[in-house]
Amino acid sequence: MNYFSWIIVVLVITGCAEQKQSTIAIEKNTPVLEQKDELPTFGIAIHGGAGTILKKNMSVEKEQAYRAVLENAIRTGHKILKSGGTSLEAVEKTINILEDSPLFNAGKGAVFTNNGTNELDASIMDGSNLNAGAVSGVTTIKNPINLAKEVMLNSPHVMLSGTGAEVFAKQQNIEMVDPAYFYTEDRMKSLEKVKNAELKKDKMAFYDESIRNSKFGTVGCVALDKNGNLAAGTSTGGMTNKKWNRIGDAPIIGAGTYANNKTCAVSSTGWGEFFIRGVVAYDISAMMEYKNLSLQEAATEVIQKKVPQLGGSGGIIAIDHQGNVAMEFNTAGMYRATMDSKGELNIGIYK
Ligand code: ASP
Repeated sequence: MNYFSWIIVVLVITGCAEQKQSTIAIEKNTPVLEQKDELPTFGIAIHGGAGTILKKNMSVEKEQAYRAVLENAIRTGHKILKSGGTSLEAVEKTINILEDSPLFNAGKGAVFTNNGTNELDASIMDGSNLNAGAVSGVTTIKNPINLAKEVMLNSPHVMLSGTGAEVFAKQQNIEMVDPAYFYTEDRMKSLEKVKNAELKKDKMAFYDESIRNSKFGTVGCVALDKNGNLAAGTSTGGMTNKKWNRIGDAPIIGAGTYANNKTCAVSSTGWGEFFIRGVVAYDISAMMEYKNLSLQEAATEVIQKKVPQLGGSGGIIAIDHQGNVAMEFNTAGMYRATMDSKGELNIGIYK
């Protein structure tokens, strides 16, 4: 080999060695194993209404019954998320369990209007694309959250109401029931109580403290799935003795329900008129987005300051894009539960 051939051989060998080194360097800088070990975060939270829920007024059996339904509901959603299902599906199926229970003011346990009928409201929102669906004043839909989802996915609209919503429900093969399905003795007794109080007082009795607090039980769910998508949903019978086709905050996007992957997913419960005026669910998201507040800071500001300043009461559950949960209320209690990606379950009722 001549001098030039030796130089070429040396250059080739050095080049290979360098290439090998750089391959090793890339491998070293890419924590492949660590990434595989890190499980994707997901989580879920639910509420079953906020109000004057006091331990002294609750029997052991009743409390156990509430806890059992809350646990069944949250485990249903958690299972969906754990197996890679979407947050939207988890929210819908979790709310279905709460709607089918007569304990909560949604679906089967909906409160009565002044006319002795049941008018149901619900909404759902997808935080990945800000798509949303809602129904208000429906009287024959077994699970209004399912119809809200259908409005979101299969109609060009966001909110449908009353008979029109029911025509759409028929077309979409949504389960419908006779209005008598929603009759429960407990809710009828509440209506009679409120009507009697109203007779004794004046037409503003709807806003009387004791009356207001006899109607809690709206249900809601927020979830973060393994793909980082947030969703929120809320379903309710509204407020006992409501008149004139009154619609609360639950079906109003931004008030009762809001979800945005950039910030959080929120579901509200409480005195709806104030939650509409305070645009509560969106306000929490907006404070995170524009003021850089944490979820907990934003939730505290809205529920402990802004809503009471307006004269309202109630609470929210929320989850952010990192899986942090806030459950804030300014009432004596709020039925609630959370479950994180490790499967840790927390159920609460009182303060
Ligand atoms: N927010 C509901 C409404 O005003 C009632 C509730 O959450 O208790 O219709």
